[in-house]
Amino acid sequence: MIKLLPTKHLLLISGVSALLAIVLIAFPDEKTADNNLISLEANFEVIDQSQLMLQDLQRLNPKSNTVSIPLDATPSNNATPTYEIQTPSNLVKKSTPETFKEQSVEVKSGDSLSKLLSSEGISAQDIYKVSLADKKQKTLLQMRPGQTIQFTTNETTGELTQLTLILNRLDSVTFERNDNKFNRTETSRTPEVVQAYKEAEINNSLFVDGLRSGIDQPLLIELANIFGWDIDFALDIRKGDSLSILYEEKYLDGEKIGHGNIIAAQFINNGRTYQAIRYQTEKGANYYTPDGLAMRKAFIRTPVDFTRISSKFNPNRLHPIFKTSRPHRGVDYAAASGTPVKAAGDGKISFAGKQNGYGNVVIIDHGKGYQTLYAHLKGFSKGTKRGARVQQGNIIAYVGQTGWATGPHLHYEFRINGTHKNPVTVKLPNDDPMPKNDLKSYLPYAKQVVATLSNSHSPSFAQKLASLKE
Ligand SMILES: [Zn+2]
Repeated sequence: MIKLLPTKHLLLISGVSALLAIVLIAFPDEKTADNNLISLEANFEVIDQSQLMLQDLQRLNPKSNTVSIPLDATPSNNATPTYEIQTPSNLVKKSTPETFKEQSVEVKSGDSLSKLLSSEGISAQDIYKVSLADKKQKTLLQMRPGQTIQFTTNETTGELTQLTLILNRLDSVTFERNDNKFNRTETSRTPEVVQAYKEAEINNSLFVDGLRSGIDQPLLIELANIFGWDIDFALDIRKGDSLSILYEEKYLDGEKIGHGNIIAAQFINNGRTYQAIRYQTEKGANYYTPDGLAMRKAFIRTPVDFTRISSKFNPNRLHPIFKTSRPHRGVDYAAASGTPVKAAGDGKISFAGKQNGYGNVVIIDHGKGYQTLYAHLKGFSKGTKRGARVQQGNIIAYVGQTGWATGPHLHYEFRINGTHKNPVTVKLPNDDPMPKNDLKSYLPYAKQVVATLSNSHSPSFAQKLASLKE
């Protein structure tokens, strides 16, 4: 049999036998194999009928798919004097590329980094090394259900080579292996920002008709906040009121992903027109009239979330029994006991304590002759004492029924230079106007924005505006 084979093949067989002997002696256990080994498969790629030989080899060594030999164990020693099967090292590298596996998993509720990665077969050491790179920022500790983790492993060693937590469509954080540690980098994509224009006519409510006109709910809430100083959206809205809005839309890969700021907006309410333009000053971004007056007022209209007005302002009220004049110099807002009461404007507390009929009462001085009073309070919040400075919206106390009160409510008074005004209707002063320096650059900008708004109006909106001006 053997005699029939060509000499070349004979030599080869003897070579392979010799190799096998080396392999079996040097590596009785494949676990000892490490990186400086090359696979036998690679060595035989250059030889005729090498696949057949390999199959034979594998049959002899069924435990492993590839048999490894050390790089320095030259197969062309005594046993194969005439045939070289040694492979140059550059060729070895080329024929045994490292292969990597990319995977992607979605974070589920209750997942932690270690739970998630260990279930994917990542070693505890690698998980530890990644978390070490995130020690300062702790982004991985805050991962949320629905986010995605992409990771890459070395198929040969099982090592984690890269991990990315995709936080949202714009932001992700990546950990890349560098020897024995991971480097952390943050990536943020910038969406394309485009100006958009919408308008709506109100026949039901701001929200119903706004949504119907394609204005997103968050934008409608912002609109209500911008114009809420001038318009009470629960009481003042009339059928046929209209609004127009110039705002930013954000796009990513051609798809709309959300909105940015409201650049400017216009509201026609009950025959009056209001315009607001967003502008950034040192004090932050705020909305101003085209003349540079703040849209925001120095006072909030109602300092408490109330269920109903239980008694109106009435300076000429007659006592129901005595028929004598017993004016009601404030407004009563019925609210559950304990409801927070807010400071209506910036100022200084001039009184916090008990006063006969008022019960627990707070008086705030706002300067320029303005004063507000809050009575029948259940109690005061921390820091509410005489002389303390408060800012608009700070919680100063809680609704109660101390003093002469038949049920929990806030009795609220608004005084200008000592005269009581109706808190529901008093004209509230604007917040501080724009600083003079900013005004110089604001006015030309505002002019341009107003022009953009006007050019965008639909014919019917323009007509409505024109009819108001006549
Ligand atoms: Zn009252």
